[in-house]
Amino acid sequence: MKEEIPVLKGKTKKELEEICVSLGLEKYRAAQIYTGIYKSRYTTIDQFTTLSKEVREKLKEHTQYPEIEIGRDLVSKEDGTRKFTFYVGENKEIEAVWIPSGDGGRKTICISSQIGCTLNCKFCATGLLEYKGNLQTWQILDQVLQVERLVGDRATNIVFMGMGEPMHNYFSVMKAAHILRDKDAFGLGALRITISTAGVTTGINRFIENKEPFNFAISLNHPNPNARSSVMDVNDKHPLEKLIDSAKRFTKELDRAITFEYVMIPDVNMGRDNAERLAKIARSVNKCKINVIPLNTDFTGWRRPTDDEVKDFVMHLKAKTTAPILNRRSPGRDINGACGMLALKGIRSETTK
Ligand code: SF4
Repeated sequence: MKEEIPVLKGKTKKELEEICVSLGLEKYRAAQIYTGIYKSRYTTIDQFTTLSKEVREKLKEHTQYPEIEIGRDLVSKEDGTRKFTFYVGENKEIEAVWIPSGDGGRKTICISSQIGCTLNCKFCATGLLEYKGNLQTWQILDQVLQVERLVGDRATNIVFMGMGEPMHNYFSVMKAAHILRDKDAFGLGALRITISTAGVTTGINRFIENKEPFNFAISLNHPNPNARSSVMDVNDKHPLEKLIDSAKRFTKELDRAITFEYVMIPDVNMGRDNAERLAKIARSVNKCKINVIPLNTDFTGWRRPTDDEVKDFVMHLKAKTTAPILNRRSPGRDINGACGMLALKGIRSETTK
C-alpha cells in the first residue's frame, strides 16, 4: 500500500479536513466522511451518498479506503466467543476476539495493537511470536468494524488486551480509543474502553499526564519485586516498585480506580504470602479492583489452578483487602481465544476465505 496516498480510515475529523482541503474539497465534507466511516460503517466510498458523485470519484482517485483481510473465524461451542484472524500484510497476522457473553449483556471485542509482541510474558502465547511491528490506527479500528460486520452486532465494550503491548504503540492506540469514544464516531463511553499494559511505566505516566479518560488495567501477575521477572520480563526494565508508584499516581491524579489483572499460576504466585503481598499493594494503591484469572496456557510447563486453589487464594486475598475482586471467566478457551492464548495456528490455506 502506497503511504503517500492518504488512508481515510483511522483519521480524526481534523485530519480529514486537511485531506479535503488538499484535494480542493470544502472543509465541511470532512464531517460527512467521518460519520460515514465510523457511524454509518460504510464499506466502500460509493456508499457515501451524502457526497456528490464527483466528490466520491475524487476520493476514490486520491485516497485509500482499505480493509484488513479476514482469515480464520473460530466459534466457541461453549459460550459463543469468536476468534478472528486478520491479515494486515504479507505474513502479518493478528487476532481479535468477540465475547458476547459478558455480565449484564456486555458484548466485548478484544483487539490487538501490535503484530506479535516484543515482551515475553511467560504465560502468553503471543510473546512466542516473531514481532512484526505496530498496527496503524486504521488497522486497530478496522478490527472493530470487521468483527461487528461479521457477527452482525455491535460491541458495548472494547478492550485493548489482544496481541501486543498498547503502551508500545501509544500514539495509534490512543488515537483509536478517542475515535471509539467520540459520539460522532463509534460513540462508546470512555469507561467502556479499557487499555491494558504489562507494566510499561513510561506509558502509564504519559497516560496520566494526558489525563486520558479511559479505563486502565495493569497486568501484575506477581506481587514480589524479585520474582515478578520470572513471570514477566518487562519487570527488568520497569520494576514493580516503579509500577506501583505509577498506579498510585494514577489513582491520585485521575481520581479513579485502576484494575490489576492477576493470572493465577499454582506454585508460582498463588501462595498465601503472595495473596497477602497482593492485598498490601491493593491497600497502598487505594482505589483499585483486582481481576484474578486462572492460567489458560500450559506450554511453559505450568498448570491451570483447580477450583479449590482459586477459592483458597481469593479467600486469603479477601481477608486482607477491601478491593473488589472479580474471578474472571475464560471465555473462548476451546478456540484458544482466552487470555494469554492469542497465538497464530495453522497456515493461510486453512483459512475460511
Ligand atoms: S501478555 Fe500482552 S504484553 Fe505480555 S507477551 Fe502477551 S501480548 Fe505481549
